Amino acid sequence: MTATVLVVDDIEPNRRLLQAKLEAKYYTVFLADNGEGAIASALRHQPDIILLDVMMPGMDGFEVCQRLKAMPETQHIPIVMVTALVNIEDRLKGLQAGADDFLSKPVDDFGLFTRLDTQMRFNMVANELRVRGKQNARVTQFSDYEKELIEAPSNVLVIDQDNAEARRVAEALKATGHRAQTWVDASGGSIEFRDLDLVIVALSNQKHDPLKLCAHLRTLKEARDFSIMVTYDPRDQSRALEALRIGAADLVSTPLEIAELQVRVRTQTRRQRYIDVLRHRVDRGMELSVIDPLTGLFNRRHMLEKMQSWMHRARAGSKPLSVVAFDIDHFKSINDQFGHGAGDDVLQAFSDRLRMNIRPKDIACRIGGEEFLVIMPETEMNLALAGAERIREAIASEPFTNERTSNPIDVTVSAGVATHQGEAEVLADFLHRADQALYRAKQNGRNRIENRAA
Ligand code: GH3
Ligand code: MG
Ligand code: MG
Repeated sequence: MTATVLVVDDIEPNRRLLQAKLEAKYYTVFLADNGEGAIASALRHQPDIILLDVMMPGMDGFEVCQRLKAMPETQHIPIVMVTALVNIEDRLKGLQAGADDFLSKPVDDFGLFTRLDTQMRFNMVANELRVRGKQNARVTQFSDYEKELIEAPSNVLVIDQDNAEARRVAEALKATGHRAQTWVDASGGSIEFRDLDLVIVALSNQKHDPLKLCAHLRTLKEARDFSIMVTYDPRDQSRALEALRIGAADLVSTPLEIAELQVRVRTQTRRQRYIDVLRHRVDRGMELSVIDPLTGLFNRRHMLEKMQSWMHRARAGSKPLSVVAFDIDHFKSINDQFGHGAGDDVLQAFSDRLRMNIRPKDIACRIGGEEFLVIMPETEMNLALAGAERIREAIASEPFTNERTSNPIDVTVSAGVATHQGEAEVLADFLHRADQALYRAKQNGRNRIENRAA
């Protein structure tokens, strides 16, 4: 997994050192030796991440950070501020400037590469979702509502056997506006994992194996809703790496620097929410593009896509493929008699009965006003006829009741069945044969199934 990194430092040996470390791991590196240069390079190269020195003549790191976070073209790029060790004031200023993370000088390899890894994993998921959501732009525009959602305070659970330390962490997070509870606080009631954004697990001080706990948390069905951050003793890097492998999203070394922890929690929460928002968009976008809103069945467009792929699979695997075209009988007179609203209700109730009378692998679609098509994969003619007959029966056997009219409405449906004839038959011809059979069913008196052209 490679990525581009912009290294900003006014001191040449510092730049060269970071460049050498990064290039040795196949990162692509851009360099800047002052604030203006950093901003120009960020705009031009759109790096995946920026390592930003604080102390620079002219524009310092805080100001660079602030400016980058204020521009729509660069505000999404994560910024790691490189500060002198244990300079708490710098960290607080960095936090205010919008920094996403901190690294202490001298930069140790473990801290550097685990941060880059975490960031890259996040980028990969976000990019995948952007592509699936057909949002090709690297810079995603968010609505005000989505922005609020992303920036909202975090809900954190702190798990540490050392309860005093757990409380200290929880209190510090509450001080920056987050909601936080410790495992001990929570154990009175049950924990709603679905509502959590983040679980912080201390790798030290645990009676039980904390890695097992992390692995267990990842298997919960709500695991998609929260991320895991682990705190680790710097002498215990191997366990920290193992935690990442199991699915922890971020690592923070002990003793915990509260300002750093506050930033990390905010950054991790933002990442998690950002992914949630993108995922939600993908789900919604997919729904809109394939589902008929009135009936909840697949729409015509999705039907065509599925037909293409099932025809392909049928030919490749020499398996039969059938379709049944349905058309409600005299639907116009239902509208005329009971009104268009009642007609819509009938279409919905019809779709429910259709759905209940097909097999799981069948694909039911609404392809026109009162026209439906069921794709029946791996199904030969006789089975398809039997399936169609079961549906016809389910519709005709019981009148449709309806809130709008006191009278139950009698509904019947006609259907035409066709089975794919292989290589020589294109999609349009296949569908046309089903249509012709349907036409014949209408001609022969309706409320019946046919499988041959008129
Ligand atoms: P046939 O048995 O020959 O199929 O007769 P029919 O009346 O069902 O056929 P026709 O195609 O003449 O009429 C279909 C009617 O379906 C006409 C149209 O107003 C109605 N329709 C189409 N879409 C909708 C819809 O979404 N809601 C309602 N309520 N009616 C619809
Ligand atoms: Mg019709
Ligand atoms: Mg009709």
